[in-house]
Amino acid sequence: MAIVFLSLGSNLGEREAMLGAALDQLEGRAGEIVARSDIYETEPWGDAGQPVFLNQVISLSAHLTPHGLLNAIRSIERQMGRRRNGKLFQPRPIDIDILFYEQLVLHSRRLTVPHPLLHQRAFILVPLMEIAPEWVHPSLKRSVRDLYAENQDPLTVRRYHTELRQGEG
Ligand code: AMP
Repeated sequence: MAIVFLSLGSNLGEREAMLGAALDQLEGRAGEIVARSDIYETEPWGDAGQPVFLNQVISLSAHLTPHGLLNAIRSIERQMGRRRNGKLFQPRPIDIDILFYEQLVLHSRRLTVPHPLLHQRAFILVPLMEIAPEWVHPSLKRSVRDLYAENQDPLTVRRYHTELRQGEG
């Protein structure tokens, strides 16, 4: 079994339900969820015209190889209605990225691990801080705590309060 960290995002449809459904699918197909961060609401990266995202980071005890995990993720995204039209920054019911796979450093045509942008993105570092502050980035040789402290991403990331949302009617 391998400890992996995944980032989940949704900015289309019932966003919170999408995250929950993706977690169920991952448990069914990839392994056991070990930890999950709170859900955060974040401004979209790359194109300010897009709807606001909900983001979450989880760790998983996975029984798949890195490429096997990527295949499972792509299949879950397809099943949940993600359409790829070749354009970047499209609204998406679900987006799942592999952040870390144990301490593996891998560059293949389809997969780069650790995720190449994770240390630049507050919407990944803020939830990652919650569940794995001491985890070390295998190529940058910095802990999540250090990457978070050094991060200069100006985009807002705030905790999403489910109870309040439900109470708003
Ligand atoms: P995106 O549209 O942002 O979800 O990018 C998806 C593509 O990035 C996939 O087709 C993957 O082959 C590729 N990719 C490269 N590295 C990763 C990674 N660490 N996690 C997920 N997808 C990756």
